[in-house]
Amino acid sequence: MEKSQWPYENRAGCVTRLQADVLVLGGGVAGCMAAAQAARRGQSVILVEKGAAKRSGAGGSGCDHWESAATNPCSTVSPEALLKAMMDDNDGYNNAISHYIECREGWDALLDIERMGGKIRDTEDEFKGAAFRDEKTKLMFAYDYKSRVTLRIWGATFKPAMAAACRKLGVRVFDRVMATTLLTEGGRQGGRCVGAAGFHTRTGEFFVFSAKAVIMAMSRPARVWLFSSGHPGLCEFRPLQCAGDGHAMGWRAGAEFNMMEKSVQAEFSAAGRSFPPYSTGNNHNTWYAASLIDAAGRKIPYADRDGRLLKTVEERYLPAPGQDFFLKGGAVTQAKYEFEGPETLPYEELKKQGYRLAFYADLSDLPELERKVIWGMMVGQEGKTQVPVYQNFTEAGFDPRRHVLQCYGTGWQSAQFLPKERQLFGLPGGFMNDWDLMTNLPGLFVAGDALFASDCYGHAAATGSYAGRKAAAYARKNQRLPLCEEQIEAEKRRVYAPLSADPREGVSWKELNEAIAKAMQNYCGEQKRDELLLSGVELLERYEREVIPKAFAANPHELTRLLEVFDILTVAQVILQACLSRRQSCEKLEFYRPDGDGAEPAPFICLRQEGGRVLRRQVPLDYAGDVKENYEKHNRDYIEEKEAAL
Ligand SMILES: Cc1cc2nc3c(=O)[nH]c(=O)nc-3n(C[C@H](O)[C@H](O)[C@H](O)COP(=O)(O)OP(=O)(O)OC[C@H]3O[C@@H](n4cnc5c(N)ncnc54)[C@H](O)[C@@H]3O)c2cc1C
Repeated sequence: MEKSQWPYENRAGCVTRLQADVLVLGGGVAGCMAAAQAARRGQSVILVEKGAAKRSGAGGSGCDHWESAATNPCSTVSPEALLKAMMDDNDGYNNAISHYIECREGWDALLDIERMGGKIRDTEDEFKGAAFRDEKTKLMFAYDYKSRVTLRIWGATFKPAMAAACRKLGVRVFDRVMATTLLTEGGRQGGRCVGAAGFHTRTGEFFVFSAKAVIMAMSRPARVWLFSSGHPGLCEFRPLQCAGDGHAMGWRAGAEFNMMEKSVQAEFSAAGRSFPPYSTGNNHNTWYAASLIDAAGRKIPYADRDGRLLKTVEERYLPAPGQDFFLKGGAVTQAKYEFEGPETLPYEELKKQGYRLAFYADLSDLPELERKVIWGMMVGQEGKTQVPVYQNFTEAGFDPRRHVLQCYGTGWQSAQFLPKERQLFGLPGGFMNDWDLMTNLPGLFVAGDALFASDCYGHAAATGSYAGRKAAAYARKNQRLPLCEEQIEAEKRRVYAPLSADPREGVSWKELNEAIAKAMQNYCGEQKRDELLLSGVELLERYEREVIPKAFAANPHELTRLLEVFDILTVAQVILQACLSRRQSCEKLEFYRPDGDGAEPAPFICLRQEGGRVLRRQVPLDYAGDVKENYEKHNRDYIEEKEAAL
């Protein structure tokens, strides 16, 4: 590495050692909340983040709705009813513990973010008098205006406030450090987690962190089936940095995983083949309940969950007769209904009825405040929409009172994905957890999108805070253990090896990612058969044996990307093992086995590694037990704290 070619100091090989009571890996939503919570409980805390905590992660640039505010003062839905809907919607293949924490503490976490400086109320009375606003609290609701369980929030203000709060609380934040391995007691797979190591993504400096408790908050894997070397940043919905490093580190250390066999057919915003999320006209999520028109200007009807056509705009925001509540424009709602509403009729039905492409979102016929809350609040706060979509489109002259915006629906005008092009989207597999959000590795806690069947900002914030509390309690009770020097040395060798590989002979991160994605499409597509899966196992083993030793990186940036792809390879191997373990098709896991034995689908299948062998066990879907009772048993201190604060 020549100094003239690289703008940062070259510190590859230099080692810095640090100690904390609680070490948090990943400074996204969950990680920041966890770090703040542990620091408030008197623990010394280090937060390690691959990007910059101020804006990193899926929620770094924004978020427009908060789904889990069951206990907000206007909600009509209890945490238990909300959890039941989430569980029923997935036939039980969901994380009852983490989602109950979300339902029970989501509102507490949001109030915490408000205290940190995030904006959650219409304090300027911009939307005074709107049907979705509560005049007393100035809270604003989304989608279902009756249940008032989902809030509209100014999420672009959240991450900077959270990162600043962490620093104020004395958390030592290490930005641009990529964690690469967990350190375990005696270097043993399955041993207590005693720290982590990683390197600086600009200088290459190596970091060794020792801690009494560690929190894993590095989100979920991506780019396992989908990769576009031309659009690496648009390969998937979540940011490039979130590639599954945490899952791979956990697997190598012997942590247990659940539901890793689940994948879904790729959707919008994948593989660089569709427009960036929320930048085109549509009528769900951020854009709910925009009107849609066809090429002839004919209005496309809204329908409720039972397929009943709605006559007024107001009805779009109300549950169907007999339905208690719905979430996210109907994407999660009360379980068991036939119609995938309530956005519109299915495209095939619209085609039959003579509606003509292209379709457009038409905000002009909405009441003024409904229009303004979509274009200007939701579009502007959601994901990365603030500058690229809201600001740029506005500057280019887009006026939602007069103009319509074209829709590019998946399957009719946007990318049509093949069944073998898959993603870990929605509620995919991840770390298995107990009621303390601890993994099977003592001292290793987990929060946010790293948990199995996890999703959403409120879930990440609530589980982050919870894991911070539990890790702090663990650190108070347990001694620091010495680190295993052989384990550290082996990791240093692994991390730096690609810097000395020969670029003329070697393979780059993009080539390797492309190869893994193709292998997974070919051998672990929609249909799971032993012959195919075993061919995949063999091919990926070959990549591990023959390609990884030749992979090269010219600088710390390329090294970061390459080590991520090594982790993607590990995750792909775990997925293949999980698929081999499930013998029957399971609709809710979108898992199809033509060579299955036709029996009832198995409950949860959990996997871990011990001495290179894969160990499997089945876990009942209701392993969380009575959620209210168990939550209250495990959180007496928190409940008392809250009562004392009233
Ligand atoms: C475009 C978009 C819009 C969304 N909108 C909403 C919404 O409106 N409402 C909602 O509820 N949810 C929304 N979500 C989902 C929500 O943002 C996520 O569920 C949430 O951010 C998960 O939090 P997390 O902390 O688990 O992961 P993240 O916030 O993604 O944080 C993970 C962090 O780990 C870091 N990291 C990864 N690997 C390493 C490593 N090796 N070393 C160190 N650090 C590492 C990453 O850089 C990142 O900062 C949206 C997501 C996207 C992508």
